[in-house]
Amino acid sequence: MMMPYSQNKVLVFDLDDTLYKEIDFLISGYRYISDFVSSKYGLEKSTVYGELIDWYYSDCNPFKELISRYHLSEKISTLLAIYRNHYPSIALDYDTEDLLRRSKEKGVTLGLITDGRGYTQRNKIRALGLERFIDNKNIVISEEFGSEKPSFQNFEYFMTLYPNSSFVYVGDNPKKDFITPNILGWITIMLSDDGRNIHKIPQGLKEEYQASFRLDNLSGIIELIGCQD
Ligand SMILES: [Mg+2]
Repeated sequence: MMMPYSQNKVLVFDLDDTLYKEIDFLISGYRYISDFVSSKYGLEKSTVYGELIDWYYSDCNPFKELISRYHLSEKISTLLAIYRNHYPSIALDYDTEDLLRRSKEKGVTLGLITDGRGYTQRNKIRALGLERFIDNKNIVISEEFGSEKPSFQNFEYFMTLYPNSSFVYVGDNPKKDFITPNILGWITIMLSDDGRNIHKIPQGLKEEYQASFRLDNLSGIIELIGCQD
């Protein structure tokens, strides 16, 4: 399933749990909240951080537990806003950065379709340094764009921008990532969950929701789209 070499290739990625692991954003956010709370209330930072993580993995609401445990004056919504708006300490892994760099060098147009708040997603994009590889016009964030996946508009945007191109979408979530690009004739690639994904993959979804390819690692994409050396 190689694409013709002459054709312009547009390679579009999901963000969370595709270009980086969302658990890394959560860890960064919990560290930030621990810093904030421990300095304001004179608590031990590492204790607070450990408790947040424990509550998260016991399916409690960590911010609710934190407020009641230490009688904080903050509301859950305040802590949630701090979490969402903090500038995250996250990074691309080697394979991902290498793929983006090599794709760009080969003249592949890179894009992003992600669902979420503009402010939060923009912070992630900046922290990951994605502007080095992806033009701002090729970044579709649901809150800014006005619709979420699997809406057709979010994908058709690229087809309007780059007519006569072949399109690839790389994501992790069969519930909303692949159904629409499948219908639109894109090649779809699912990055497998390495066990760290925040949202577990639903089982038993119909064929049309599944990606045409499944990879354990993003570095295989270059070969898949026919851009190998
Ligand atoms: Mg995702």
